[in-house]
Formats: sequence, C-alpha cells, structure tokens
Amino acid sequence: MEMNAGTINELNATALVEEGTAAMRLSELSSRQKASRREVLDVIVIGAGQAGLSVGYHLARAGLRFTILDANERVGDSWRQRWDSLRLFTSARLDSLDGKPFPAAGDYFPTKDEMADYLEGYAAHFQLPVQTGVKVERLFKRGGHYVVKAGDREFEALQIVVAMAGYQEPSLPAFASGLSTDIVQMHSKAYRNPGQLKPGGVLLVGAGNSGADIAMETARNGHDTWIAGPSTGSIPFRTERFLGRMVLQPLLLRLVFHRLLTIKTPIGRKVRPIIQSKGAPLIRVKPKDLAAAGVRRVSRVIGVQDGQPLLEDGKTLFVSNVIWCSGFQPGFEWIDLPVFGKAGELLHRGGIAEKQPGLYFVGLTFLYAMSSSMIHGVGRDAARIVKTISASLGTSSNTTDAFAVAPAGRSR
Ligand SMILES: Cc1cc2nc3c(=O)[nH]c(=O)nc-3n(C[C@H](O)[C@H](O)[C@H](O)COP(=O)(O)OP(=O)(O)OC[C@H]3O[C@@H](n4cnc5c(N)ncnc54)[C@H](O)[C@@H]3O)c2cc1C
Repeated sequence: MEMNAGTINELNATALVEEGTAAMRLSELSSRQKASRREVLDVIVIGAGQAGLSVGYHLARAGLRFTILDANERVGDSWRQRWDSLRLFTSARLDSLDGKPFPAAGDYFPTKDEMADYLEGYAAHFQLPVQTGVKVERLFKRGGHYVVKAGDREFEALQIVVAMAGYQEPSLPAFASGLSTDIVQMHSKAYRNPGQLKPGGVLLVGAGNSGADIAMETARNGHDTWIAGPSTGSIPFRTERFLGRMVLQPLLLRLVFHRLLTIKTPIGRKVRPIIQSKGAPLIRVKPKDLAAAGVRRVSRVIGVQDGQPLLEDGKTLFVSNVIWCSGFQPGFEWIDLPVFGKAGELLHRGGIAEKQPGLYFVGLTFLYAMSSSMIHGVGRDAARIVKTISASLGTSSNTTDAFAVAPAGRSR
C-alpha cells in the first residue's frame, strides 16, 4: 500500500483514538474497581454536633457500621463559634448526652466553650468515627445506595441520618442589603462581642433568646439599644435562682418540653407550629431585665428608608449598628432527594422521611418534642431513630454493651 502524509496522519489518528479508548477503558475500569472497593456503610451520619454524636453513640451500641461527617474542623465548633460571653441557659444536669454526664455540678451553667469541649471529649471517649473538615455538598441516591458527595470524595451507605439543628444558615430579610453602608450590620451567627460594633446605637432585630441576650450585652457596654419584633413570651421563673436551678427548670424541660409537648399529645400538636414559626419563649432574660438595662422595645422592622431601618409604625430608627437576630434556616439545598413539600418544608414524621425510606433527621426544632433540638432531649430521638434503622437493616439495637455507662441522669 502506498502511504502518503494523509494516510500516515489517519493511521496516527486511528492509533491515537485506540490509545485514547484504551486509556478511557482503563480509567473506567479503575473507577469501577474503586467503586467495587468502596465500602458501603450501614449508615452515614451528617453532622457531629450533639445530634450527630447522640446518633453515633446509639449506632455504636447497635453494632452498626457507620461514619459521622462534619464540615467543621473540630467537634464542638458550632458552640465555639457562638458569641464570646454565651453561657448555656440550661444547667449542667440538663447538658449531658447519653452515657456521659456533663463534668460539672448539676446547677452550674456552662460556658459555650465548656459545652464544645464536652462534645469533643464525648466523641473521643466513645471513639466515635467522626471525620471533620468534610462538608457535604450533595446527598443523592444511586442504585440502591445513598451517596454523599463532599468535594471529590464520595461516601456510600444504606441509610442516612441528617443530624443537625435547623440553625445552620442565617436567615435575614432581603431588604437588609439596602441599609446604609455607614451602619455596621451582622447576623447573630457572626456576632462575637461588642468590639465588632461602632460607637452609637444598636438595633437588635428579633426578640427571641439570642436577641435578648445580645441586647443585654450591648446595653451594658454603653450602647443605646433597641430591640424590635414581637415578644415570644418568657418562662415564669428565674433559671438562675435556687428554686429555678434545682426544681423548676428541670421540671419544665424534662416534664413539659420532653413529655407533654410532643407530636403524640393534642397540646403538643397545637404548640408545635407556633414554636416552629415564632420561636421559643425567653428562658434566661426577662422583659423586665431588658427594660431595667435601658433596652427599648420597638415594633417590627419592615424595610429600609433612606438607608435606615423602617419600623412597622412608620418610624425610622437612626442607629450605628444592626444585629439580625432574625433566626436561621437549615440550608438543606444539598439534599438532592424528593423530601420537601410545596413550601420547601421537610416531609417527615418524627424524623423519619415520608417518601424516602432510609433517610432520617435528628435535632430539628420540635422534630418529635419541644426538647428535640435541646441537649437533654436529643438522645431520645437518636435512640428511637437508631431503633428504626436497626429494625430495617435486620439488626437489633443494643447489640453491644461496650457503652454500659450510667445514663446521663435523665429518664427516657
Ligand atoms: C445561641 C444558642 C444558644 C443555645 N443554648 C442552648 C442551651 O443553653 N441549652 C440547650 O439545650 N440548647 C441550646 N441551644 C439549642 C441547641 O442545643 C444548639 O443549637 C445545638 O448546637 C444543636 O446541636 P445540633 O447537633 O443539633 O446542631 P449543630 O450544633 O448546629 O451541629 C450541626 C453540625 O452539622 C455540621 N454540618 C452542617 N451542615 C453540614 C454539611 N453540609 N456537611 C457536613 N457537616 C455539616 C455543622 O458543621 C455542625 O457541626 C442553643 C442554640 C443557640 C443558637
């Protein structure tokens, strides 16, 4: 055969294509091999806060193969990242997870860093398989398995627990961007201390527990302080006084929040949507504390006028700082599964996804009870979800007694 330059190029091209195809085959083979080598776990838990660690504790007791993934660098960081002066409003007797009491006197109110360290110690004590620095970007289904994608890593499991409170992403109105650039504004998630603020007035938008706590701090630091928004009510006793610490708070949290206000009781079902939309009552700070500290109440903030916050009563407020205590959203856009209703709400019953067998949630506000997003309440939900998982995987819960430590001083 006579070969000219064209024929040679064609031959080269054919060789290149064959080479390329072979290379593709090799890479396909190697990714198939990788896939077949990839371990399919029983369960992946997403989130290693109190909710994820509680689920992990019960999964370990049930003898299941699992891992816990968390975006943060250290277990406990969601507490460490909150404002510097934050102390828990629940005393230590209400701050223990299953199997390991909080290391302080029962009537002591821990700092946020002590809580963070307790969680880190909890994960280490029970040798829970936590992988930190892993931000889940997509959760989807492939074949019969759930796939969790984080950067270029993939994890697979038969079942998934999304274990986190709904406080992941700041929620603030779109008109916030219209505030004058002279005003220092931030969400409560970014607030650390008054050192971040300009001299002058501070407006807290949102009158829940965070707004009330931060308002007390800014007022004490010499800022004229206003707090806007409807009252969420307040509990009728002082948590820090002897009776409050020893009797009333444990009674309220263990009996009312944990037993009475659940999705199983008529009163619980009535209260649930109110708590989910309006927030919990003030626990530590009372309206009269705010008044005594000189904090002024104003109506809701409904927009911006000439760069200043506009109130519902038509007035504008001239302040140097605005702190949005307007709540959070779960930020579940990474869940690529049909688990959301028309209004974007999660469709689940007591944490069990309605249309997605094998997917569970733990830690959300009033998931099962008023206590579900609180430290003393999350363990019961975790235990119940793990029981459901064990049943569906055909294993029985409590298969190992490696964690037979005294329960954390509370009943289920
Ligand atoms: C200011 C404040 C004070 C509170 N004080 C109390 C109190 O005194 N007592 C009480 O009982 N409760 C209190 N709570 C309520 C509750 O106990 C806390 O919010 C607690 O942090 C909830 O724990 P969690 O594990 O459910 O969620 P989180 O603590 O929010 O932990 C969720 C974890 O999931 C991880 N995560 C989120 N998204 C991803 C992702 N895509 N990929 C990987 N990881 C991810 C995060 O990094 C985080 O570590 C308070 C809440 C707030 C906001």
